[in-house]
Amino acid sequence: MIALVLAFALPLAELPPGKTFMVLQPHHDDHTTDYGMGGLIAKFTEAGWDGWYVRSSNDEKDGAFGYPHNDIINLRESEAATKILGMKGVYSLGWRNDYMDSIPLQELRAQLILLIRKHRPDAVLGHDPWGHYDRNPDHRKVARAAAEAVWMAGLENVHPEHAALGFKPHRVSYLFLKARVDYGRGHHANRAVELTESQVQKKQKAYSTHRNVYASPGMARGMRQRLTAENLVIPEIEGKSDQEAAVMMEEWHMDWISRKRGAENGVKYAEVYWYSDEFDHVPGLQNYLQKNVVKK
Ligand SMILES: [Zn+2]
Repeated sequence: MIALVLAFALPLAELPPGKTFMVLQPHHDDHTTDYGMGGLIAKFTEAGWDGWYVRSSNDEKDGAFGYPHNDIINLRESEAATKILGMKGVYSLGWRNDYMDSIPLQELRAQLILLIRKHRPDAVLGHDPWGHYDRNPDHRKVARAAAEAVWMAGLENVHPEHAALGFKPHRVSYLFLKARVDYGRGHHANRAVELTESQVQKKQKAYSTHRNVYASPGMARGMRQRLTAENLVIPEIEGKSDQEAAVMMEEWHMDWISRKRGAENGVKYAEVYWYSDEFDHVPGLQNYLQKNVVKK
């Protein structure tokens, strides 16, 4: 059985060379949902990288407090969660959540190009625009804008007005992309990233910081009611408040998926990605380099 599992194990990705990464996302919580990227983010920051998070939408429809309150609560929770992961800060572009189809792609892309030229990331993390169909319109929109921005930020003739502001073209060398796996046909990853216990713990804490949409007392209450209806209890959450129980349950969720991805790939904890390095777009050169390049 173990041999069979390992026959399907993905190659393990090491962190690429560099010092700065950016996470280009639609939503406040995309750093830990879809089973990515909190562990990888923590791995980057523990290795001394600077990381910046971009929340493209305003998340107004995520939560029960009404549009303006949801926007600001989700932004604050995003700032707190990404801080736990060791990131430097969050940019909020404030586009209307779930209503992003009407934004000109070019405008969103230009914002991302500007931010890429400002921070000059060596690696970018985000949703995979070439993955299986994602029913979330914001995921599709931002994934496409981000993929285009990553390439176009390096082209001198694209938005030359940025140069007047002091932001020169910048080529992003490495991509780590994820996609939803809870519906459709899932995601075809090509690399696993091994995580340490500390990285999994940071991912758990960051995830459960999102109390407006995940670790809310209402979530735990609903779960308890369903269990009670079936005459079941979870001893570990007996005597805990709904808020405490909700945090524990969300942390178990992140622990479970990190172990599952680890077991599938021959390590204790992992996340999986579609990874692309700087020479993947020229496969002939890639093969030549693998055979012929030596370290000076
Ligand atoms: Zn999302």
